Amino acid sequence: MVAKAVKEVIDSLQTMEGGGFPVRRPFPVRNLSHVDPFLLLDEMGPVTWKPGEAIGAPDHPHRGFEAVTYLLAGQIIHEDSSGHKGKLGPGDVQWMTAGGGVIHSEMPDPRFKETGGLMHGFQIWVNLPSRDKMMKPRYQEVPSSTIPEGESSDGKATVRVIAGRSKLGPSAVIDTRTPIIYLHYIIQAGGRVVEAIPRDYDSLIYVFKGEATIGTDSKVVTEGQMAILGDGETIQINVLDNVSKPTELLLLGGVPLKEPVARYGPFVMNTEEEIQRAVQDYQKGRLASILD
Ligand code: MN
Repeated sequence: MVAKAVKEVIDSLQTMEGGGFPVRRPFPVRNLSHVDPFLLLDEMGPVTWKPGEAIGAPDHPHRGFEAVTYLLAGQIIHEDSSGHKGKLGPGDVQWMTAGGGVIHSEMPDPRFKETGGLMHGFQIWVNLPSRDKMMKPRYQEVPSSTIPEGESSDGKATVRVIAGRSKLGPSAVIDTRTPIIYLHYIIQAGGRVVEAIPRDYDSLIYVFKGEATIGTDSKVVTEGQMAILGDGETIQINVLDNVSKPTELLLLGGVPLKEPVARYGPFVMNTEEEIQRAVQDYQKGRLASILD
């Protein structure tokens, strides 16, 4: 088994998304457009909204990839133009395969908006292989209670398995179009994890709380930073003994698609012509109905 090293550490950009909510974004940024097969990683918040002020993302389109929402705190209601509607609370996952086209909104639950409170979560975009880019949209909505969890033998590390599998737990209940691993780790002071990642995956770790030392050369990765991992089959993650709070991080990996990426806002295709077609379909109001 070859242990991985950290290839590069990337600082997040702080920006606004949707109607104007704050996100931390390790990519896409100027010098890193994607980490194949992942196109975007947004940490939404954490932000504490005052009563009446919570902001979401009103109607907008997607085509050519999957948008995965993992909520840690807050309440979101999503609704698409073909009438699909659902609700996300803390710990819930929505794995939305936009395929040929979805127009949807992702808004704070009106009751949450009224009271205000903490909103925190992630949205990740997973690219689709060219053969699936125009597939029929598909939703996998997974309540927190059915997300498999695992724990290290010393109890210092727990993992939630959103996609793929962890050495510490069972396999995910979510089905992915190409092989993906998506794990959420919570590691206490002094905790140590060695996770397995298949050799043919590209992988990264995003630390969103505390800090960890990662890989064969024990690179320190702190809150808001992402580590791109090098070659190998295992990754070592350590949390120091003297930290004041648990470290939390996402581990993401997948088989790279190695296909051309043409992207424009919410459309991610293989060619410029396909992007132009997506823009036209959207402008002509047929983006989300083209498959009917
Ligand atoms: Mn969206």
